[in-house]
Amino acid sequence: MGFSSTSVPAVHPADFQFRCIACGHLSDSASRDFRCAACRDLLEITYPAWKQRKPEPEPLTSLWRNRRTLMNDADLSGVWRFRELLPAVDEAQIVTLREGNTPLYRLPRCARSLGMPQLLAKHQGMNPTGSFKDTGMTVAATFARRAGFHWVACASTGNTSASMAAYAARGGMRSLVLVPEGKISWSKLSQALDYGALTCQLRTDFDGCLGLLQQLVLRAPVYQLNSINPFRLEGQKTIALELLEQLEWEPPNHIIVPGGNLGNSSAIGKALVETRDLGLISQLPKLSVIQAAGANALARTVREGGKRLVAVQPDTRATAIRIGSPASWKKAVQALEATGGACEEVSEIEIAQAKAEIGAEGIGCEPASAVTLAGLKRLLKRGFVKPAETVVLVLTGHSLKDPDYTIDFHRGELFRGTADESAATALGPLRHPPIVLDAMLDAVLRVLDQAEKS
Ligand SMILES: *Cc1c(COP(=O)(O)O)cnc(C)c1O
Repeated sequence: MGFSSTSVPAVHPADFQFRCIACGHLSDSASRDFRCAACRDLLEITYPAWKQRKPEPEPLTSLWRNRRTLMNDADLSGVWRFRELLPAVDEAQIVTLREGNTPLYRLPRCARSLGMPQLLAKHQGMNPTGSFKDTGMTVAATFARRAGFHWVACASTGNTSASMAAYAARGGMRSLVLVPEGKISWSKLSQALDYGALTCQLRTDFDGCLGLLQQLVLRAPVYQLNSINPFRLEGQKTIALELLEQLEWEPPNHIIVPGGNLGNSSAIGKALVETRDLGLISQLPKLSVIQAAGANALARTVREGGKRLVAVQPDTRATAIRIGSPASWKKAVQALEATGGACEEVSEIEIAQAKAEIGAEGIGCEPASAVTLAGLKRLLKRGFVKPAETVVLVLTGHSLKDPDYTIDFHRGELFRGTADESAATALGPLRHPPIVLDAMLDAVLRVLDQAEKS
């Protein structure tokens, strides 16, 4: 496959620098732990060239649209199609699995029950490994390989490891996965194994895995692919770009995302501010972040002024957001402030209900993604979202990522033995447990008849 461009590009891939989010220190290279050499805070990628020669909105949006008809690897990717807003790389070096290009669905039944004219869901579970992590991983894996690393590594609640293992394999690199023992779904673990990762189940939680990884990268020549890695956030920006493109650059009033380690909210917030500054949109959507009540570090941090992280001991069945000390909390606070968004937390019952309601739309998602719908209900109730406004939920992972959760829910086992057990009976009408029958026509006809009447 060739990499020839058929149209004359009006703008060029951007040269970049690293900027510290706290002290503003600029540098052309980053240390292995991706922390500021001066103050140790996180780095973000910035594009000084935009100051001298700002990309023009109109040629950009046409260029991106036209690329959807082209057949080379970079243009087939829903991430690299937007490469003018990504760090510059030779197209032949790109490691891609055709990530992005995910559908924007309507949720008509959820909208109706909330009294909204329309509600939209950007389904990032439709990525190659089943979660939004692929949009960032293609960029970070590309730069890992370009830097000559043979090993890449991450700490993960499951989806990052699945994605990293796949992109490492595609790029001819080896991968090391650190996951907490237990508390991660078999589906996600199986992906890492399938793609050939060296997988370590550590007797700790996610935060413990991440802490260990950060020491490890200083001792061994491995490239860190956690969302502390700012290249990942650049790739994840394209979630917002593609979403805005699907809405013909008419921004929605609200975008709602789940918050775990807070890389995704940071990336989408950065994309919104950049597209506004470049004149691609005239008004910023409000970006709101929803957490599980049992892993509500950002919600508590915001409530207490947003200046200092309030870490928690995380506990939720939504394992993808089971994180107590989110690495990108400061970037997420900045994103909330820049866009005027809110932070909410939702209960385990609200998550289970929202997940079943999204499933009933024929879409399905993993529990961590369902917090967005649960959070929207709260934001409507407190008047932060108005029913007439346009809202996009970012569904972060595919339903098949955590089938145990879905099966436990429908069998009525999800809340058994927990404090929520009696409250969960209210979810009865949403449950469709499998029915075991003798293989007899009459038995099936009777069940069908009962179902029709109910
Ligand atoms: C990683 C992940 C999250 C959390 O994203 P952060 O960037 O860590 O906040 C939410 N949902 C799913 C399905 C995920 O894989």
